[in-house]
Amino acid sequence: MKDKILKWNDVLNFANNGNPAPDRRVEKKDEEWRQQLTEEEFYITRKKGTEARFSGEHCSRYEPGKYGCVCCDNELFDSGEKFDSGTGWPSFTLPIKENAIKYHKDGSFGMIRIEVMCNVCDSHLGHVFQDGPQPSGLRYCINSVSMKKID
Ligand SMILES: [Zn+2]
Repeated sequence: MKDKILKWNDVLNFANNGNPAPDRRVEKKDEEWRQQLTEEEFYITRKKGTEARFSGEHCSRYEPGKYGCVCCDNELFDSGEKFDSGTGWPSFTLPIKENAIKYHKDGSFGMIRIEVMCNVCDSHLGHVFQDGPQPSGLRYCINSVSMKKID
């Protein structure tokens, strides 16, 4: 993300008008995901669940490195964009690159929110909000369970 900083308008544009093309695609049936994932991973990533606040192992860790999709290893976030939002979920200001993430308008619970998913396998990651730190102003609020630490 060195070349371009995503802003809220870019997020809305992706959600409304279509997402950037992913580098590759991984598509599996629920039964296949169920075999590969733990019960909790399956529930959160494939059934759009949410882990309990402050429960995740990545919540308060800031070691350098990258975070990948627990389902397909797609690189999602770099620790350099991680910040302490105080929400109890791992929070990032930007994805590792523009086409790592896809955005979807989520009208559940009577609110319009922007859901963020892995752009390779459609794994549910969390939501993005417009109250993050500058310069992006974005706060990606992500379930720890959806991610694995890479390197
Ligand atoms: Zn994925």
